[in-house]
Amino acid sequence: MKNFSLYGLPEKVIFCKSCVISNQRPSSTVEFKNYDGKQKSGISIDSNGYCDACKYNIEKNKIDWKEREKQLFIFLEKYRKNNGEYDCIVPSSGGKDSSFTAHVLKTKYNMNPLAVTWAPNMWTDEGFKNFDNLSRIGGIDSILITPNGNLHKYLTKISFMNLGHPFQPFIHGQKIIGPKIAKKFNIPLVVYGENQAEYGNKIEDNLSHYMNNNFFSVDDEFNLRNLMFGGRSIQNIIDESNFNLKDFATYLPLRKKELIENNIQMIFLGFFEKWDPQECFYYASENTGFVPAKKRSDGTYSKYTEIDDKIVPIHFYTTYIKFGIGRASYDASQEIRNNKITRDEGINLVKRFDGEFPSTYFNDFLEYIGISEEEFYKRIDELRSPHLWQKRKDQWILKQSID
Ligand SMILES: [Zn+2]
Repeated sequence: MKNFSLYGLPEKVIFCKSCVISNQRPSSTVEFKNYDGKQKSGISIDSNGYCDACKYNIEKNKIDWKEREKQLFIFLEKYRKNNGEYDCIVPSSGGKDSSFTAHVLKTKYNMNPLAVTWAPNMWTDEGFKNFDNLSRIGGIDSILITPNGNLHKYLTKISFMNLGHPFQPFIHGQKIIGPKIAKKFNIPLVVYGENQAEYGNKIEDNLSHYMNNNFFSVDDEFNLRNLMFGGRSIQNIIDESNFNLKDFATYLPLRKKELIENNIQMIFLGFFEKWDPQECFYYASENTGFVPAKKRSDGTYSKYTEIDDKIVPIHFYTTYIKFGIGRASYDASQEIRNNKITRDEGINLVKRFDGEFPSTYFNDFLEYIGISEEEFYKRIDELRSPHLWQKRKDQWILKQSID
């Protein structure tokens, strides 16, 4: 088969010399503008062989974090309320990172955060427990937004079938719900945990604590009706199904002018506090009752990262199929940068766990989106980019892997 990338990523796979990520890792996209066949840009790896995330990490280690803490105190001064009202929104999932963010804001920075959780597709037991513990043990007020389940299933299905991206509707919701609730409650500050750039979007995105509002808002009404889910616009979906615009209430992001008129700002805590996921885990275990999963997640060695939704292992399986980058690659790269493991250990973990079939919740997923096993495998094989995969004796293998 011709050697080309289905997704517009470079045909030659290059691995970073410092971590285990490759140039196939797509940069974050604005999900609601994501359509099938859209060409992606990957993480940049420079002529010396280092990826943007590792280069940013070197910069991160030079930062005077005590000074950044002071800057945050000063920044928060104009938002902090002492009348008992909430003064910031923390988009949450009950995960370790958002639990850390909300708790640190409340206890160290004397803020009054309201955590806002966009419900997972399918809660895991520990995911629900962690969500619940954030308020019960962590003492953080929280609200849960659960979108229309019929529509959410439908969007997840078309996202898988059209884009091979079953997690898209969730990612969309989790991104836009913070500013949306901020407007409703008249709370003009939304604090995310880490910035996307931490993992290799443009380094420049990390030079300011403000987040790019393209991820959270649209220009106007026209753009609202043309938001994309699973490669289809809202208008297409309404025309082709029994859903109507009212069903999309939770999914509609703010218009840019609403962000501006209401003075809503989105920042990320990782600009001010040194971001280290393992340390967030320890902190959340101690302070907000966070519990890890009983066993490691499919496709990786980790037990405490993104464990709230049964769909997550399927999501990482699709990244492995589409980009040759599985869940262990993401976890190991991040842990190498944070000096938790060496690159050699990372490579061994990738070889051992990356691309492991997500069997634990596989049947739940099939049942959830209503497709058969055959349909799943057929779609998966269509998603394999010819420059990455070859079939040998009925076995799919990666043409270019890390060693
Ligand atoms: Zn790297």
